[in-house]
Amino acid sequence: MSRGKAGVFSLWLEQRPFWCWKTSWVENFLPCNSYIDSYDPSTGEVYCRVPDSGKEEVEAAVEAARAAFPGWSARSPQERSQVLHRLADLLEQSLEELAQAESKDQGKTITLARTMDIPRSVQNFRFFASSILHHTSECTQMDHVGCLHYTVRAPVGIAGLISPWNLPLYLLTWKIAPAIAAGNTVIAKPSELTSVTAWMMCKLLEKAGVPPGVVNIVFGTGPRVGEALVSHPEVPLISFTGSQPTAERITQLSAPHCKRLSLELGGKNPAIIFEDANLEECIPTTVRSSFANQACPLGFGLLGEICLCTSRIFVQKSIYSEFLKRFLEATRLWKVGIPSDPSASMGALISKAHLEKVRSYIKKARAEGAQILCGEGVDKLSLPPRNQGGYFMLPTVITDIKDESCCMKEEIFGPVTCVVPFDSEEEVIKRANSVKYGLAATVWSSNVGRIHRVAKKLQSGLVWTNCWLIRELNLPFGGMKSSGVGREGAKDSYEFFTEVKTITIKH
Ligand code: NAD
Repeated sequence: MSRGKAGVFSLWLEQRPFWCWKTSWVENFLPCNSYIDSYDPSTGEVYCRVPDSGKEEVEAAVEAARAAFPGWSARSPQERSQVLHRLADLLEQSLEELAQAESKDQGKTITLARTMDIPRSVQNFRFFASSILHHTSECTQMDHVGCLHYTVRAPVGIAGLISPWNLPLYLLTWKIAPAIAAGNTVIAKPSELTSVTAWMMCKLLEKAGVPPGVVNIVFGTGPRVGEALVSHPEVPLISFTGSQPTAERITQLSAPHCKRLSLELGGKNPAIIFEDANLEECIPTTVRSSFANQACPLGFGLLGEICLCTSRIFVQKSIYSEFLKRFLEATRLWKVGIPSDPSASMGALISKAHLEKVRSYIKKARAEGAQILCGEGVDKLSLPPRNQGGYFMLPTVITDIKDESCCMKEEIFGPVTCVVPFDSEEEVIKRANSVKYGLAATVWSSNVGRIHRVAKKLQSGLVWTNCWLIRELNLPFGGMKSSGVGREGAKDSYEFFTEVKTITIKH
């Protein structure tokens, strides 16, 4: 990556569009005739161009992945694990460069990219390098009616992996690592809005000892290259993270081939705050859980652009006024700034279209008579002049809003949260469950019995109590209802990326 005129990043991506899928990814790349402009979210200016691939590139990637599969799948789990560890080490050595690129490309704060996105990408490879050894050593066998029965697991083949823009390298590696650890070869498609760190990782694959054709990355848009990948008959499995409408389309395209699907989708996540909650902990955590992905005064910030963010806060009536007052005070402490500013707690939203979409929800809420108590249209946003074209907005808090309002039902995926009062446990469970999503919920209370009761009744794949976003990677991750199909995590990912076979031998 080099700096071009006027301080604009000009990416190598622009001149050498393709990456990795033939015998050697540095020398072999396809010429690309068509590119997509990629915008810097903090200025609104084009700063690099991403190849606009399609069917032809998917075909070439399939060919490379097919050729690499026999050799890679025949390696022992230990050998594959070592390659993953080497890749993790190389990513770690490039941490600062990757963090700068992720922050510039995505608009998130440099602090967040340094402390979460890139370290977590490194961890993904280390984690699956270890967990594969554990899972492949497990053995199921039994004697029954004069026979020995046992099971074996084998990689599925070529895995299609599609990821979104909010956690670019983090989510892409969360799929690549388990897929290749289990012996598959992969074709991965990052979001066309955030392709840069995927491309940077390509340059490290060869050095890490990943054989050519094992990891293939295709760049471009969903309708062109994404659909070509999903529809390809030689790609039997698709792991997708993104929005629910895209998942519907992927499901339709996969149906004629009966493909195996893992779908990690959106959420409309509730936080339920009972009157016996510890507000000292609950308020800063709930501010963070509402506005993360561009932000965090605690050095752990993310802008409502995380599928796990809280967007509906239910507060028991007896503490509603106090909670709201303190919640607004804490929200106003957040500094919106350019992503490269280490003191910024929030960066920019991903694109102009997304900023407009988020703003349109606030307009609708206002039109319905809801109160906008802080943020968009209420407080003034001041940024350096050269960043006036950037996609910035303030964290926004909406109250006096009905459960039927679209702001309470639909995923906004921006720094916007609604705060509403409730009376009883039974009532709040019903209201929390009243949306089509079921990804993550948070419960705040000091009554253990109540925590168990409420957690069990919430229709949500993840429930955090008195905390938020604490993850144990061994445990299943995924959503209920329209938030997804399947689970990811050590065992779940291993099972998804392998086929099980039962063998019976008569004594
Ligand atoms: P998106 O669905 O628009 O795009 C996701 C990916 O799918 C991108 O790479 C895109 O190019 C590709 N794509 C788009 N149309 C396609 C098609 N027709 N065929 C194949 N691929 C296609 O989602 P987004 O806007 O990038 O991401 C935001 C969404 O992701 C939100 O809904 C968020 O909640 C969700 N998300 C979920 C999780 C989770 O773990 N559950 C994590 C992060 C983000």
